[in-house]
Amino acid sequence: MPTGKYPRKPLSPEHREKIRQALKGRVFGYKFQKGHQPSVETRQKLSAVQTGRSLSPDHHAKLIGRSLSPEHRAKISAAKRDKPSGRKGQTLSEAWRKALSDAHKGKPLTAETKQKLRAGMLGKPKSPEHREKIAQANRLPKKRRPTVPNAMTRLKLSLASSGANNWNWKGGVTRFNDQLRNNHTYNKWRAAVLQRDGHRCVLCGLAKGWNEEQQKKIILDADHIQPFALFPALRYELSNGRTLCRPCHHQTGTWGARPMYRKHNLKKGPTP
Ligand SMILES: [Zn+2]
Repeated sequence: MPTGKYPRKPLSPEHREKIRQALKGRVFGYKFQKGHQPSVETRQKLSAVQTGRSLSPDHHAKLIGRSLSPEHRAKISAAKRDKPSGRKGQTLSEAWRKALSDAHKGKPLTAETKQKLRAGMLGKPKSPEHREKIAQANRLPKKRRPTVPNAMTRLKLSLASSGANNWNWKGGVTRFNDQLRNNHTYNKWRAAVLQRDGHRCVLCGLAKGWNEEQQKKIILDADHIQPFALFPALRYELSNGRTLCRPCHHQTGTWGARPMYRKHNLKKGPTP
């Protein structure tokens, strides 16, 4: 069979009538013709056929990235010019409006848009509700920029005035023992011990502060059951701490520097 173009013969009126009859009632294959407005039923049928359908992956891939020719676009543009949008007069559902609002949140308005909004509002009296809203907004404290610098800046600031960089630097005179006992970890450990023991001496039960019976002020210490100096690993163990009043603390075998000089005592364990 030779290949090539075969000019199509015009169909006879009978033939056309046959085709028309055969296609009657079928939505499939419907073609829009220029200037032709399908009837409401046809449109409903067309819509029903398309509802729930999605494009095949191949079809989708074909459409994506396809750009219309400038002439095509100009035609579409010309056809739409000065015509109301297809959605004119429709009210959007609450959910839809919320979605639109969320999508635009945080986007800065262009100067042009702001100018338009302003022009639209100018000279119009505001409703009492609107005025009340403005008044409410003005009553709120003004939003401030966060003034806390980021972690890196804080570290730099800290280093810039630490140690030898500090105006009060005396050349490293803090005793090693004081350094150990005045750090954040130690303070946290001490607070945790006192908290756990309810701010009372675990031996005599006295509470912190002025004691009417003894006519003296009670000071509470966080005692290390296994001595601080000899058990570095237990220094910040909550279970190695107990709350003692000063007198009870002084009576323990491990108070102050005693264990440093009487290590043999420790073999029997700490004395209460
Ligand atoms: Zn006590």
